[in-house]
Amino acid sequence: MTVAALATPMMQQFLKVKALHPDAIVFYRMGDFYEMFLGDAERAAPLLDIALTTRDKGKPDAVPMCGVPVHAADAHIKRLTELGHRVAICEQVEDPRELAGRRLVRREVVEVVTPGLVGDPEGLDGRTVVALVALCLPAPPAASESRPAPRRFGLAVLDASTGDFRATELVIEEGSAGSEAVAVLPDALVQELSRIAPREVLVPAWALEACRTELEQALGPVVVRPMPAVAFESLRTHTSSPGSRPGSWPGSWPGMELVGGDSGTRAARAVANYLAENQPFAVEQPPTLSRYALADTVVLDASTRRHLELFESSEDRSRAGTLLAELDLTACALGARRLARWLAYPLRSPRQIAARQDAVEALVERDRLRGRLREALAGIRDLERLLAKSIRPGAVPRDLGALRASLRALPRIVAALREDDLAANGGWLEAPSVNALPLEAPEPLPELLELLEQALIDEPPTIARGSRGAQETGYIREGYRSDLDALRESASKGREWIAGLEAEERQRSGISSLKIRFHPVHGYALEVAKSQLAKVPADYERKQTLANVERFSTEGLREVEARVMGANERAAKLEREIFESLRVRVGQSSPEIRAAADRVATLDSFASLAEVARRKRWIRPVVDESEGLEIKAGRHPVIESVLGRRGADGFVPNDARLDPAGPQILLLTGPNMSGKSTYLRQVALIVLLAQMGSFVPAESARIGVVDRVFTRVGASDRLAKGESTFMVEMRETAEILSQVTRRSLVILDEIGRGTSTFDGLSIAWAVAEYLHDTRGAEARTLFATHYHELVALEESRPRIANAHFEVREWNDEVIFLRRLVPGGASRSYGIQVARLAGLPPRVIERARMILQDLEAGALPGGAVKPSPTKTRDGQLVLALEPKRSPRAAAEAKTLDALRHLDSNVMTPLDALTWLARAREDLALASGDDGEEGSA
Ligand code: ADP
Ligand code: MG
Repeated sequence: MTVAALATPMMQQFLKVKALHPDAIVFYRMGDFYEMFLGDAERAAPLLDIALTTRDKGKPDAVPMCGVPVHAADAHIKRLTELGHRVAICEQVEDPRELAGRRLVRREVVEVVTPGLVGDPEGLDGRTVVALVALCLPAPPAASESRPAPRRFGLAVLDASTGDFRATELVIEEGSAGSEAVAVLPDALVQELSRIAPREVLVPAWALEACRTELEQALGPVVVRPMPAVAFESLRTHTSSPGSRPGSWPGSWPGMELVGGDSGTRAARAVANYLAENQPFAVEQPPTLSRYALADTVVLDASTRRHLELFESSEDRSRAGTLLAELDLTACALGARRLARWLAYPLRSPRQIAARQDAVEALVERDRLRGRLREALAGIRDLERLLAKSIRPGAVPRDLGALRASLRALPRIVAALREDDLAANGGWLEAPSVNALPLEAPEPLPELLELLEQALIDEPPTIARGSRGAQETGYIREGYRSDLDALRESASKGREWIAGLEAEERQRSGISSLKIRFHPVHGYALEVAKSQLAKVPADYERKQTLANVERFSTEGLREVEARVMGANERAAKLEREIFESLRVRVGQSSPEIRAAADRVATLDSFASLAEVARRKRWIRPVVDESEGLEIKAGRHPVIESVLGRRGADGFVPNDARLDPAGPQILLLTGPNMSGKSTYLRQVALIVLLAQMGSFVPAESARIGVVDRVFTRVGASDRLAKGESTFMVEMRETAEILSQVTRRSLVILDEIGRGTSTFDGLSIAWAVAEYLHDTRGAEARTLFATHYHELVALEESRPRIANAHFEVREWNDEVIFLRRLVPGGASRSYGIQVARLAGLPPRVIERARMILQDLEAGALPGGAVKPSPTKTRDGQLVLALEPKRSPRAAAEAKTLDALRHLDSNVMTPLDALTWLARAREDLALASGDDGEEGSA
């Protein structure tokens, strides 16, 4: 590329902008397009699937470029940021028409959209959260330190499209983890990050490489950005990209100290700095920082969330079939996001849980109130995101219109809560005064609503993104501002004047076909057909000649034109000013709007939980400080709704009772398909539901708060998903054993299955013993296994109890009764299950034979299984011990062969040969050295 191609004033301007945003793709506004140049164009064109062209086509040194129309820009920006890029939106900040080409229009980057910082919620699904996280890390401990101090980690997370901004601090006591010394990020922090699932993570520059590796391992592809240390220390713009334009600062930031503070605050400051740098306008209404403590909520690690299918089905990662889908009957997006948050962070304080339950219960008991409330809630649009849109410089009248519609719905919610039920209930109160209910109504914003009602027309229009022209006017209501009305009047009067002038000129000239025409560039003109030119008065000035007509101007026409056009333009400009002031006014109300949105979200979540409880007949569980767990007639919330509640094929409820004092570990044996996995998950789901404040599917439940739920599923159960290996399973199991407490709930489903029988059995056995025998680790545990041998544990371990699902055999078939009964299962019924599954009868028959042999201690073919050693406990009696003599084995084998003989297809000679061989085999086996009978 030669210098010449870049020397034009426009390219010079572009290069200046680009120099401020070297790591972003610059969307450079030119009229109705955003253009990309040079390297940006070459990078973006293939990603956006658009044509890469050049400026000044044909020249050898042409500048590569590509572009997208402004009206379609959102989708392209979304695409690029989802691929991990940053997009700098560079707008024309002057009206090109006002400049009339005298010089280049000024342009500025008004916003940088990054993967985790999406300020414009347009096109985002209501349930989607766009999380930007910053991590504040302690400096690595110096090698010289003899006793390192506790390490403090800060985490802050912002969704810029909703203003949700929270931070927490984690303190890791030294010596608590040996292996963590090598990792930069402690396990608890990584777990929290995986719960948040951020799109972009800001980390101190010194830790960039280590963090990137660890974060990508834990979260998959995620954008990790370095921040200078000073960005964590003070609220100023410390740019993460050298040379970018500093943002402006508010005097204070709600919820955040401007200096000092714990590491959570420091992390929040890095987020704030990043926000100011990339979305300077957002800082005028800074989101309020709130604090949270991980110790207040239940820890749910990634594999637990996955196995319990809380948010995503393990089959296709969709929402269908998840607990959240079952629970979410919210009426608006605010509620949907709040409910998901509650499920992600179940509580640990019985008092807080009871407070939520009180609210849910109040609504469960009041059908009419709940109905009215949910109806009113449905009128609320996504207030948080509408607010975010409205305070953006690119806001359009339609955004404020949508906000207004939601503000209108707020008083309806208040009314729904206040209205007493006297009238509807024939003079009887449905319940005590509703005002006493534990439900907080949102505060309506009557003044703001009134203002928007008066100022905006009923259906305010959209105006193209970032447009500064006057394509659309008329969205400010008549009667709102007298100066605007006056301008509009003279503009419309102008039309009358023009009509009058037209009539006048027709008369004066005697040209009856004379017309006054308007052209956007040339303005007004008197148009005369060529045939009438002779009649044109002398004072007409020729303006333009066309094929059949000529256009003229006059002194009088120019005067009217000036008044009319001036009025129109001034009216449009005034409308924009008024709109701008409305936008500012909305911004000033953001704390109140956010507070209202917060209460709406909470109410909607309560209403949803109550609706679910009512429809599905769930009950209020008792959650207390005890360590026990007692569920009567519990059901699996998701499977029950698939199967239905009643009838022969309906869901069969089961009890559960666990306590560190015993029975602490319930060992479930029994055949595949009997219901073990379902039961395990059902208990865990009921606990999580209870701790998020929901009612639960059971007849009654009492739950001592759980601090953490561990769910591990044996490798082969997940092999189909191609994600799991025995190694992962064992690593996860190791994690449990190092972190479990007496308050935890442990769900182990077929662990140890991903390896050979004896390995797997031994591992499962040792894990069960560990959970039973280790002080402080006596977690309530549900352990499903197909290793029957484990039932022997009950004998030596008092707090282990066996149970299995009842199975009935009928005509050599199995019937699953789905009822949990005490004691170990006697058999595994694998062959019966295989038959149910449709294996060919011949294979089933053969398997039955082999099983008989195995149970008798012989391998098919007469070989003897090596004897497994007994455990010291003396409890392990494996079924595979050799009990038979070689002779007995040979006899069994001969009998087996006889059974499988198809005499119908044998010739007499075959039969004789067979007999002779059988005799030979038996004779050989009678001698003690002749074990290997040949077939
Ligand atoms: P296992 O883990 O013992 O192999 P699952 O828990 O996977 O068995 O259950 C197999 C199937 O049995 C489930 O998909 C479900 O349809 C059905 N099932 C399980 N528990 C029940 C129950 N309590 N009532 C009715 N059907 C059940
Ligand atoms: Mg199972």
